[in-house]
Amino acid sequence: MSEIIYGNLIAEKYRLKIRDEVARLKASTGKSPALDVVIVGEDPASQIYVRNKEKAAVEAGIRSTVHRLPAETTQTEILTLIEELNLDPEVNGILVQLPLPKKINAPAVVEAVFPSKDVDGFHPVNLGRLMTGERGMIPCTPKGCLKLIKEVREDLTGLSAVVVGRSTIVGKPMAQLLLNENCTVTTAHSKTKNLAEVCRRADVLVVAAGRPRFITDDMVKEGAIVIDVGINRLENGKLCGDVDFESVLPKCAALTPVPKGVGPMTVTMLLDNTVEAFCRQNVIERNL
Ligand code: NDP
Repeated sequence: MSEIIYGNLIAEKYRLKIRDEVARLKASTGKSPALDVVIVGEDPASQIYVRNKEKAAVEAGIRSTVHRLPAETTQTEILTLIEELNLDPEVNGILVQLPLPKKINAPAVVEAVFPSKDVDGFHPVNLGRLMTGERGMIPCTPKGCLKLIKEVREDLTGLSAVVVGRSTIVGKPMAQLLLNENCTVTTAHSKTKNLAEVCRRADVLVVAAGRPRFITDDMVKEGAIVIDVGINRLENGKLCGDVDFESVLPKCAALTPVPKGVGPMTVTMLLDNTVEAFCRQNVIERNL
């Protein structure tokens, strides 16, 4: 019997835990974790993402401030704001909503955020820590995917894992997290030969390519755990993932839907990272 992994329900469970933790932290320190989000320009999708993040933070008891800057804002102005937020002891987490306008040097902005406040986990120091196995901020989407996989199977040791996609925000950190869990990991991308054959080796298949329904049942091993990160808007306005849900579901052990799969976990892991940043900055052991 195949299982549908409803990320929205699992995310809800984590959010309640985080809300309780935030309440305990507030009671013991008199302070609430604080998240500052920087958004530049009017990109409609980014505006929605930022509103969702702000709402989720407020519901969890996290103080949330959104800095909305016009599209004409210069690189220097953005860096000045980030410096102020870096130095403000009342700010625990800083998130710069991507993409930034084309004229802005996005990597320079990401690198300007103090690694200890980098709740997106995109700073090279945090990505490096993920690689060396040191404690750092883990990018939210892969962190959420791993939690979903572990809802199905706690011990991943020795499993064959395939990640389709090699972006810095999803594919590469996902592969590293699975390697840290003792999986044997293959990263596939647009130049991979015989993708179907590669995917069929996977006990754990994570797909983050941005190609609607391109993973079909003939590409999936019987009994695999399949995580669909893709979010694609179809011509009829509906959302779909990178996995052909109807054909793949009967074949696999467990599969995330789109929507209600990975997306809600991404926002939840942002809250988790903000609490993590608060605890580390205040030298508090987390008790989850
Ligand atoms: P990118 O466009 O940065 O990366 C896509 C990756 O997929 C690239 O590595 C690319 O390979 C690979 N790829 C593209 N086409 C193929 C193909 N036909 N066969 C094999 N590999 C292919 O995307 P992101 O990583 O940022 O996002 C991926 C998807 O996940 C998108 O749909 C995005 O909307 C979604 N997403 C969802 C999130 C959530 O919270 N649910 C969060 C972040 C992203 P190459 O490197 O060779 O070009």
